[in-house]
Amino acid sequence: MIDSPLLKHVQGYINGRWVGAQSGQTLAVINPATGETLSPVPLMGQAETRHAVEAAQASRIQPASIEQRKQWLNQIADLHIEHQKELGRIITLENGKPWKEAQAEAAYAAGFYRYCAAHIEKLKPRRLQEQPKNHTWTVHHRPAGVVGLITPWNFPLAMIAKKLSAALAADCPSVIKPAEKTPLSMIALFSLIDQIGLPAGKVNLVMGHADQIGQVLCEHPAVRVISFTGSTRVGKLLIAATAPHIKKLSLELGGNAPFIVFDDADFDHAADHLIQNKFRGAGQTCVCTNRVYVQQSAAEAFTKKVVSRVKTLKVGNGMEEGVGIGPLIDRGAFDKVKGYVDGALSRGATRVAGQAPAAPQGGCFFPPTVLRGVTDEMPCTREEIFGPVVPIIEFDEEKDIIQRANATEYGLAAYVFTADLKRADRVVGMLQFGHVGLNTGTGPTPEAPFGGMKQSGFGREGGHEGLFEFTESQTIAYG
Ligand code: NAP
Repeated sequence: MIDSPLLKHVQGYINGRWVGAQSGQTLAVINPATGETLSPVPLMGQAETRHAVEAAQASRIQPASIEQRKQWLNQIADLHIEHQKELGRIITLENGKPWKEAQAEAAYAAGFYRYCAAHIEKLKPRRLQEQPKNHTWTVHHRPAGVVGLITPWNFPLAMIAKKLSAALAADCPSVIKPAEKTPLSMIALFSLIDQIGLPAGKVNLVMGHADQIGQVLCEHPAVRVISFTGSTRVGKLLIAATAPHIKKLSLELGGNAPFIVFDDADFDHAADHLIQNKFRGAGQTCVCTNRVYVQQSAAEAFTKKVVSRVKTLKVGNGMEEGVGIGPLIDRGAFDKVKGYVDGALSRGATRVAGQAPAAPQGGCFFPPTVLRGVTDEMPCTREEIFGPVVPIIEFDEEKDIIQRANATEYGLAAYVFTADLKRADRVVGMLQFGHVGLNTGTGPTPEAPFGGMKQSGFGREGGHEGLFEFTESQTIAYG
């Protein structure tokens, strides 16, 4: 069982109070590295969610000034840094990622609150310079209303930071639902937020039956925006469920990132970036490379560099020193990733790094694997692997690779490595992905907008664009 000063209350949080499930039922949170139960958490449903939405709506009667919101945002950022180690430990215990990486997630999360605090002035009303119709015109950025924030398990603190920072900046009260596999990091965050004296109802936490909680958020008239990060499958369910109610949605969905290496690239540099990008979170991030395209003449040399690096990676319990790759989140994830590798091998690919994974006992550890001879038709190329597997695919021509990289329903992240900046411009301009790394495998940052094209979703988090996600413009013509 987990013991933490940040988990004195392992409960939901509604209207400024810690609350359990009305049914008294609980759900076990499991440590993916050991299979042990960390803690039971309340299994909530429609009634608790309705209560949370109503508390949030009631809190709107007391708007907060920009200065007040700025102070809250900075306080939350400070608390992330002050408790970075313990927040990181809780993330590692319930998600599996290495402790160092989990602490970096806490610092990354703090960055979103800090950024929104620093730029909150942008939400002040704007008076138009022009005076059409002989009137004075002012545009106000009003809070949209109660917002529902639904997050996945792969970044238990960072994904809520992207949403909650912008919601607080806009003065929207929120009802938050974490993933059932990682609610403890969110509860720990609420124990910190509880210290800063937000008005009751401003932030609310429910967890449990995803479909029931989702249904209330989709149907309740007070909820005006749902911001969701997760699978494209659930994103589509939310689009359908909110359609009759006309709500604003912000959807951060799945990806299938190509990593393109031209033969004039710096191979060592590209291989280093591939390793950092691909094995973060054991390959379970939305911006993780899914397909590596290498120009034919460079394939042999680049693969060797990747393989030699992969062989140095240490897999194990994320709380152990020196571990770079933790377990996959659960047995379902393990079987899925194994299926992609077995499927590729049976269709003619070769495993050039990694070995057949042992059947999980306790933790679902998957050896970092490199496959050569992969083709565009294999499921590991067409679908999101979400595991530590690098499929290497060869290509010949520039025009050919643009078409192949774009041949996916997803459009989240892509990476291009080349020394020829003219070519880089041509290729990047044609890629249908919301985030492109040019000679870098780096992912999002609080200062820049991030989000997908095509079935990777819509809406942006981070940057000035993200700051406006929970606002509605109101134009006042003064006669
Ligand atoms: P998921 O199954 O879609 O779950 C995400 C969240 O949605 C969880 O809180 C889940 O609750 C909840 N949920 C499930 N069914 C729901 C419903 N009917 N109504 C309302 N909420 C519902 O995704 P995941 O497996 O946790 O996360 C992995 C996916 O997220 C990958 O595809 C990854 O690419 C994507 N992702 C995208 C981004 C991005 O920025 N674009 C970032 C991170 C991850 P339960 O956990 O309780 O089932």
